[in-house]
Amino acid sequence: MSHNTTNGTGRAPSTDTFTCLRCGSVVNRIAPDDSRRNHCPSCLTSRHTDDHIDGGVSECQARMTPLSIAVLRSGRWALIHRCTRCYELSLHQVGGDDNQLILMRLAVRPLAEPPFPLDVFADL
Ligand SMILES: [Zn+2]
Ligand SMILES: [Zn+2]
Repeated sequence: MSHNTTNGTGRAPSTDTFTCLRCGSVVNRIAPDDSRRNHCPSCLTSRHTDDHIDGGVSECQARMTPLSIAVLRSGRWALIHRCTRCYELSLHQVGGDDNQLILMRLAVRPLAEPPFPLDVFADL
């Protein structure tokens, strides 16, 4: 008998995957730290599947692009996604293996592109 490591733990086999709408990666919905994942760890693109108002499954199913970073009360980071079709915003916790380069780029973007000249602070 061959040793089956995927099915002997009592947990469901990890066949629950989705294909990233942007980069085509096949992503396991269960992250390595056992949390549920709804966005691609390499390009951070998500999909509009949850209806946040009715609490059910959204009919939209369009691509959601990462817009910004929010810091949760716990100190963890969350990603703010915006749907490319209906423009709904949603908050998703950052996974341990999410692309750190893209995360940092999102986090510093408001500081790198301020809507006003920074030299006003020199006069304070
Ligand atoms: Zn992707
Ligand atoms: Zn949508």
